[in-house]
Amino acid sequence: MLQPPPAEPGMREEEVDTPALLLDLDAFEANLDAMAALLAPTGAKLRAHAKTHKSAVIARLQMARGAVGQCVQKVAEAEALAWGGIPDILVSNQVVGGRKLARLAALAKISSVAVCADDAEQVATIAAAAEAGGVRIPMLVEIDCGAARCGVAPGPAAVALAETIAASPHLRFGGLQSYHGSAQHKRTPEERAAAIGHAAEVTRRTVEQLRQRGLDCPIVGGGGTGTFGLEAASGVYTEIQAGSYAFMDGDYARNQAPPPFRHSLFVLATVMSRAIPGVAVVDAGHKAVAIDSGLPLVHDRPGLRYVGASDEHGKLLVEDGNAPALGERLRLVPGHCDPTVDRYDWYVGVRGGRVECLWPIAARGGMA
Ligand code: PLP
Ligand code: MN
Repeated sequence: MLQPPPAEPGMREEEVDTPALLLDLDAFEANLDAMAALLAPTGAKLRAHAKTHKSAVIARLQMARGAVGQCVQKVAEAEALAWGGIPDILVSNQVVGGRKLARLAALAKISSVAVCADDAEQVATIAAAAEAGGVRIPMLVEIDCGAARCGVAPGPAAVALAETIAASPHLRFGGLQSYHGSAQHKRTPEERAAAIGHAAEVTRRTVEQLRQRGLDCPIVGGGGTGTFGLEAASGVYTEIQAGSYAFMDGDYARNQAPPPFRHSLFVLATVMSRAIPGVAVVDAGHKAVAIDSGLPLVHDRPGLRYVGASDEHGKLLVEDGNAPALGERLRLVPGHCDPTVDRYDWYVGVRGGRVECLWPIAARGGMA
């Protein structure tokens, strides 16, 4: 159930009820501008990943700065964006199951919605759903370019699957999905360059083999916040799928030569206990902030270290003797932004210490 917003426009940040998901609008807009400026000279376009923000509002802001569309990871995210007016969506993932495919085909009537496949059985079931819905669905072949998650092998297996897609009157071959997930958080630039060098090479070869069989790739998609500069410079990728860049989480900040973005997303928390000397406890535990990629950082308070999360408690050590007051608000930088966003109904947009806007997180929640 949608919760009422924790704030109203015009309120001071200290008045926002907590825990709340705060978006620092100056930092956020600077991140969107920085990505647009970095990609402009490369020729690669941004198709930002909406699994991070789950919001048609943010999608529109990205597209106003030149993004050609949005990626999503599941049908429910595609629905939130299509119903929010986003015209060009790629499900950068496989979709299996009759109900989901019927929903996908229904969406294809209001937006362009492409989807990926790494198995001929998916091609057959999606073609059947497209036929039943009276639509033609663009389909990309996902290749495994190094992460060993999803994807057929690059080369002949990918070409065979592309030919199966191209043979269906209910589908259109849309190109290649070639995302290297495990490269994003490799800590050194050398490791990231090696991983994406390999990914770009196997992708390049597959594009070439497809061309020899008369199949063009309108989209060659991949790249995330940790490596997008490498894919964009490769000359192989046409679309970059970074998502976290808009918010810049704590884990990306731990990369060496980290991506050049500012932390813009915070969980605002209130200090609710100081009973133990040297300890402060906030009302944001791991139900309020995702900890799968490490504990949150306390923003702009280097003397405070978040050391333990339970359901509704966050334990901070006071390392510089400068204990926060009871009731004091602290900004926490999530270790991982995507699942943190998924815990909230509203972005509370702030600028200059005041609440400026409240944006619904329309695609949040467990629905696939
Ligand atoms: N593209 C795909 C298919 C992904 O699964 C992801 C993240 O897992 C991304 C792009 C990039 O995400 P981010 O920039 O948030 O790391
Ligand atoms: Mn993520």
